[in-house]
This record gives sequence, C-alpha cells and structure tokens, in this order.
Amino acid sequence: MTGAEAPARQARRFEADRTWVDGVFRDGVAVRVGPDGRILSVGGERPEGDEVVRLAGAALVPACVDAHSHAFQVLLRGRAGGARSFQEWVDGSLYPLVEDLDEDALRASALLAFSEMARSGVAAVGEFHYVHNRKGDHEPQGERYAEVVLQAARAVGLRVALLRTFYDTADRPGRRRFAEGVDRAVAATEALGRRHRGDPHVRVLPAPHSLHGASAVMIRAAAELARGLDCRWHIHLAEQASDVERARALHGATPLAALEALGVLDGRTVLVHGVWLDPMEVALAGRSGAGLVSCPLTNLELGDGVGPVPELVAAGVRVGLGTDANTRPDVYAEMRALELAQRSHRRRMGVLEDRQLLEAGTAGGAALLGFESGRIEAGLLADLVALDLDDPSLWPGAWGDSAGLLHNVVHALRPASAVRALYVGGEPVVEGGRLTRVDLEAVRRGLGG
Ligand SMILES: [Zn+2]
Repeated sequence: MTGAEAPARQARRFEADRTWVDGVFRDGVAVRVGPDGRILSVGGERPEGDEVVRLAGAALVPACVDAHSHAFQVLLRGRAGGARSFQEWVDGSLYPLVEDLDEDALRASALLAFSEMARSGVAAVGEFHYVHNRKGDHEPQGERYAEVVLQAARAVGLRVALLRTFYDTADRPGRRRFAEGVDRAVAATEALGRRHRGDPHVRVLPAPHSLHGASAVMIRAAAELARGLDCRWHIHLAEQASDVERARALHGATPLAALEALGVLDGRTVLVHGVWLDPMEVALAGRSGAGLVSCPLTNLELGDGVGPVPELVAAGVRVGLGTDANTRPDVYAEMRALELAQRSHRRRMGVLEDRQLLEAGTAGGAALLGFESGRIEAGLLADLVALDLDDPSLWPGAWGDSAGLLHNVVHALRPASAVRALYVGGEPVVEGGRLTRVDLEAVRRGLGG
C-alpha cells in the first residue's frame, strides 16, 4: 500500500415519516447510523455530509428477531403430512426428512427460510442446529454443516446466533444424524465460537437439545461452556404434556425443577417452549432469571398446548419469539398468534399488550441471543425495518395516533407487501420488498423446483 487511505465512510441518516422511539411513533425523527452499523443518534442533529436515506411514506421500526428456528424444517412443506399426533409427526414426517438431508439440502433450505425471514422483517435468527452427522454412515462432519447454515444466513444478510445443539441420545435411527459425545460437542462449539469471534453478525451458543435428547452430563457441560463463553444457552423444555412425564421418569422431577436439580438453572438459561410449566415452575423461572422463547404458531400446529406466557412475563421472565418449524417464517405472525392463542385458551381478550408483543418479537429475542439490537436507540445495532404506510394492511390508522398504528403492526400487518426495506447494521438486505443479496429463483433451483 502507498499509504493512501480509503476515505472514512460517512454516517447514514434514515429519515422516515414515522419512527418507533421509546415506545411511541414519533414523526420526523432522524436516525443516524455510523460506519460500524450502530445507531449514533436518534432525533436531533442532521449534519451536512451524511448520506441521507429518505423513507417517504414509511414507518421505521426495530427489525424482528427470530429466536428459535430449525431452517431445514421448511422442507416439510410440499409433503402432505397427515400426522394425527406429535409422535406420528416426528416418526412419519420429521425423522424421514432428517435421514435424507445432505449438505445441498441443508444449504437450500436455509437459504429459503432465511430469505423468507428477511422479507418479513427479521434481521437476526437463532438457528437451533442439530444435524451434525453425515447421511447414511452417520460420520461426524465436524463444524461443516453448522458452517453451511451460518453461511446461508450471511449470504442473505442476516445476523445469526448458531444455537449449536448438544445431543447424545441415539436410540432411534433419525437421532443418529444428531448424536455425538460430550467432548466432541464442546470442542465443535468452541471451534465455531473461536472462528467467528469478533464478528458482529455471528454468535455461537451451546444448546443441549432437551431433557430427553441430552444426558445430564451433556446438559451440565453445555451450561458450563456457556459460563466460560459468557453467553446464554438454550434448551427445548416442556413442549408437550408428555415431556412432563418423561422428565419425571428420567429425572424424578418436573422439567424446570429437573434443570434446577442438575444445578444448571440460572440467568443464562433460555427455555424454548415452556408450555407445560406448573405454577411452582413459573415462580422458579422468574427467580432464576431464565428467559423463554415462545413459538406459538408451531405450538398450535403441533397441538402442543398453550403455555403460561403472561404468568411468566409477570414473574419477570424475558420473552422472545421463534418460528421453530418454519411453516411460516414470520415473527409478526408469531406476535399475533401468541396473543390469539392466549385469548382462545382463557376465553377473554387483551391478555398481552401490543407493546409487549412487539417487544417479544424484537428486543426480547435479541437479548436472548446476545445481540445488542431490538430498539431504535443510540449505541444499539441499526437493525431496522421500513414499513410502507401506503400498504392497505396498515389502513386505516397508518397516519393516525401511535397506539392505533402499533395495533395495526402487531395485529394486521402483511409483511409480504408492507415490509419495504430491511436494514441490518444500516445496510440494505431488503429494498423495495426485494432481497438485495440473493436471487430467489436461484434459491428455488437449489430446492429442485
Ligand atoms: Zn425447536
């Protein structure tokens, strides 16, 4: 190099007609984003020299966070299904798919799932990745498949928290794609974490699969690793009523009490589902500082039941949302489903407030994955969505009072037409409703049509 330096990139200033700041839509607010992708200021200064992104007719909101996804499960689409129970679904749909997955299918399905997430306003995904071993001979693939999924998220432009699954129960054929020893799981997670350290777009978190998929030794190893890495760890817990019986049989306790008895339950623990928690466990979750990822559409789809989410929120549990089986990778739909399932279950209305639903789908999920995002606030990552106020799904009320527009966003928004742009770290990933980095037709070809 001759010493000539590239000019420092200027700040980018987003000027939408309406912006969600401090729990309210404000008009005419400027959001300045620095070259590092973080928000410099909200409101106030508008210096000369900023690159201005004028978003006329748009409302700027924090981008969604999808805190629990199994990307490959989009491949369950196009299959008739017909399962009458969760177990029939696992045995007849999920495991046959799992046994057949190869690297190309993992890549293609991840590109599809993440593309759809981006188009529905998701900037960060928690990918609960558990396919580690090769098709057929079940040879371990090291971190290879995890990297395939990770790179797919990066290709689309999303942040990704790789929830690297620990699984050591190989008592059935489908599970041989997942199963490995404790040492291998720890080493692979550490290696992935090392490789991506310092990348603001990637997190690597340990994720023992469940009380039935991971042994006590393995769950303890994952929790220990999370302490060492100073991050949270995720585990499926109490999804089905039968999980309570299984926990009693395996651990002699209800699911959350079992985690406590293992000595691993604390503020780093993130429970996925938590549908079948009793009142003692709700209080225990609150005391422990654990978080919860709720996946309402998947719970409805699989007939899991309706969990005590309002009670958990009242106990102080941080809640995020996940699309899990990805029948529809759309976090706005999850916000809505969370509230509607509660209403149906309790036979009343207004269980969770609109702002709590938006918070769960944005800042709540971000906190549980370890990303500093989810609010439009100086210092946080500029993960933003521009919603088109000319989209009929936001009418009437698009230009009305703040509470009315928020209600439309949470309960009526149709992302396919209303998400005009998605910015991740201030960089466009969706513009004019279209993905900027991947060609959907190529994604379709990768899926074989
Ligand atoms: Zn899951």
